[in-house]
Amino acid sequence: MIVQPKTRGFICTTAHPEGCAANIREQIDYVKSQPKLESGPKKVLVIGSSTGYGLSSRIVPAFACGADTLGIFFEKEATERKTASAGWYNTAGFEAAAKEAGLYARHFNGDAFSDEMKAKVIETIKSDMGGKVDAVIYSLASPRRTDPKTGDVYKSCLKPIGQTYTNNTLNTDKGLVDEITIEPADEDEIAQTVKVMGGEDWEMWMDALADADVLADNVTTVAYSYIGPEMTWPVYKDGTIGAAKIDLEKACARIDEKLGAGRAFVSVNKAVVTQASSAIPVVPLYISILFKDMKARGIHEGCTEQIYRLFAESLCSDAPKLDDAGRIRVDDWEMRDDVQATVAESWNKISTENLNELSDFTGYQADFLRLFGFGVDGVDYGAETDPIRPLDLAD
Ligand code: NAD
Repeated sequence: MIVQPKTRGFICTTAHPEGCAANIREQIDYVKSQPKLESGPKKVLVIGSSTGYGLSSRIVPAFACGADTLGIFFEKEATERKTASAGWYNTAGFEAAAKEAGLYARHFNGDAFSDEMKAKVIETIKSDMGGKVDAVIYSLASPRRTDPKTGDVYKSCLKPIGQTYTNNTLNTDKGLVDEITIEPADEDEIAQTVKVMGGEDWEMWMDALADADVLADNVTTVAYSYIGPEMTWPVYKDGTIGAAKIDLEKACARIDEKLGAGRAFVSVNKAVVTQASSAIPVVPLYISILFKDMKARGIHEGCTEQIYRLFAESLCSDAPKLDDAGRIRVDDWEMRDDVQATVAESWNKISTENLNELSDFTGYQADFLRLFGFGVDGVDYGAETDPIRPLDLAD
């Protein structure tokens, strides 16, 4: 099969096996070029490990700390006529590199919200990982969740709370800057988003792992959040997803308390291009403007640079860098006053006509295609490739 990108809005329905593998190799090479983190975790469970921040949270402990990793994700396998999803091929690329380095790397493909998945993972930690993990990374981004106790299905939404929000947004297919108006969420939509993207499932995972006695005494667990600048607050920090992140922070405090000698953190990360962030209104335009400024200042980072810094500065340290609310901040460079001042200035002037002058829309589009393995150096996109790539799944 010759694989080309087929994009529709923030969705690409194809992915390139060699492109995804080459992308992963670049990220691994970056981690290998950094100092080793000898005090880092050695047995790591990553929930949401196939793309974005979770994928980087698997690459960094494996290649900076020499960790064995067990990953969980929800991806589509290929057929003879249809490619697998990008996260499947990312995992194939990661698995090959990890095994070559002599590291354990197995995975579960299925619903991380279910009790069944938690039970299977616990059995695998006992059988394959010496009975304990010393780090648990929680990096799910999902549009829906089935409650394992009731079977009820909850859906998340990205809406403001209490007010209608109108601002610039970007049609990423056409490169058009246009206004978007989003009506506020009702109480039920807020509650459903909290149920999907809040802290309940993270806490259920940590309780299940603790009850099964598969957590090391000094275990570290982390989940990810975002704050961003004021212009995005109505649709992010103060919107439905922000309500879910407040719930995540409350769960973090409870998990930390229950862990005793172990530690639980919320890390506030930088805005980056992922499948999840490309679906948020307004954010892709903000990211395009932000990237132009951060690249010009030489402080631009992607997921893997962010997560390496998270491990190096905080997770592998006895003195993690925390803000007043006790959160780790690796969004510190994004939120610098000088960066935000330039971004705000461009934001107020941006239009379709000056999009390429005031923003790095080209870089945004390239990053988006790279998520699916397209536009990666050294890959022959005209060549036939076999879409079927087996994975060492643990079940
Ligand atoms: P992503 O879409 O790249 O990754 C989501 C992961 O969750 C994938 O591995 C996917 O397979 C997995 N997943 C989804 N539903 C699942 C299910 N039911 N069972 C098992 N696995 C499932 O997302 P991302 O942008 O890396 O987001 C991860 C976290 O980082 C989120 O909490 C997000 O809010 C946070 N974050 C993202 C950004 C950003 O700019 N992208 C910034 C700060 C924080």
